[in-house]
Amino acid sequence: MPGKRTLRLRCPICKKPVKGADAEFPFCSQRCRTIDLGKWASGAYVISSPLKDVNEAIRENNPEDSESES
Ligand SMILES: [Zn+2]
Repeated sequence: MPGKRTLRLRCPICKKPVKGADAEFPFCSQRCRTIDLGKWASGAYVISSPLKDVNEAIRENNPEDSESES
């Protein structure tokens, strides 16, 4: 194999090539990391933890139902 095969990753925010050794990996910069966090906070991504809260809320509302499961 001629030469090293370099893994080229791109910043998920601005699509700039990012080095795996970068401090802000997988982002190209602190700025893009902050933007990504903002997306999570604003609900742009679907995250699983609220779903768990819903299930727990249902269980609290129907305690008898959860007991009959086991
Ligand atoms: Zn970026």
